[in-house]
Amino acid sequence: MSSSQITLPICTWCHRSVAPDERAVSFPCPSCGKATIWRCEKCRELARNYICPSCGFEGP
Ligand SMILES: [Zn+2]
Ligand SMILES: [Zn+2]
Repeated sequence: MSSSQITLPICTWCHRSVAPDERAVSFPCPSCGKATIWRCEKCRELARNYICPSCGFEGP
């Protein structure tokens, strides 16, 4: 048996794994540029702020 595991990105806000077909967004942190911020479809809909896991930067 071959187990090919796909690592799904995790939403920065709700820590849910983001499905590949979801309309999620990802972008580098505008403050430190080290971490990649992920926002899932739900969090985009609800316009939740993101918090950078690396530097703690909070943004809309
Ligand atoms: Zn950052
Ligand atoms: Zn989310």
